[in-house]
Amino acid sequence: MARNVGAACRRCRRENLKLYLKGDRCYSDKCSFERRAFAPGQHGQARFKKVSDYALQLREKQKVKSLYGMLESQFRIFFAKADKQKGVTGENLLNMLERRLDNAMFRLGFASSRNQARQLVRHNHVLINGKRVNIPSFQVNVGDEISIREKSRANTLMNDSLEAVARRGVPSWLELDKDNFKASVKALPNREEITMPIQEQLIVELYSK
Ligand code: SF4
Repeated sequence: MARNVGAACRRCRRENLKLYLKGDRCYSDKCSFERRAFAPGQHGQARFKKVSDYALQLREKQKVKSLYGMLESQFRIFFAKADKQKGVTGENLLNMLERRLDNAMFRLGFASSRNQARQLVRHNHVLINGKRVNIPSFQVNVGDEISIREKSRANTLMNDSLEAVARRGVPSWLELDKDNFKASVKALPNREEITMPIQEQLIVELYSK
């Protein structure tokens, strides 16, 4: 499946926000955003006076797409599905993004970034209710058990990441059983627990034009 492989740190600098796309490096003093917190490119440090509504909406969408590592086509499909659901479209969208299997793996600490989580899923290391699932966009649901295949539990990157999970914390909609390499989905994701500064309404406005 296609994925966004552009320079990760450039995307953080473009969005003027740490998107935590490179795992442990993001928490170290090697983080490019910490050292150069201005947009990339020749005019990155220039100050523009006015930003149009459209530009704000576009940047918000790009930011969320980068955060969850999605391409435009995948993101549009998610939006269309969110729009068809009952309730507030923007919140539905965030809920669906959070429920992606690669995101849940990252949130649980099995991987240090969503990108790494996506690889674990694609390489058949993950089971849902005992069955292998290798689709990163798979939507986890209340009551699902996420576990790591027994053969894959010695994976060094995963173990290192689990050791560091306390640094990020596990959201309350997930419950981690670290010793047994499994977790359960206790509830649907809660908007309040998405702490990244996201204005989902801007994305809804952009796609509603
Ligand atoms: Fe973003 Fe991580 Fe790169 Fe820092 S190290 S700029 S948080 S991807």
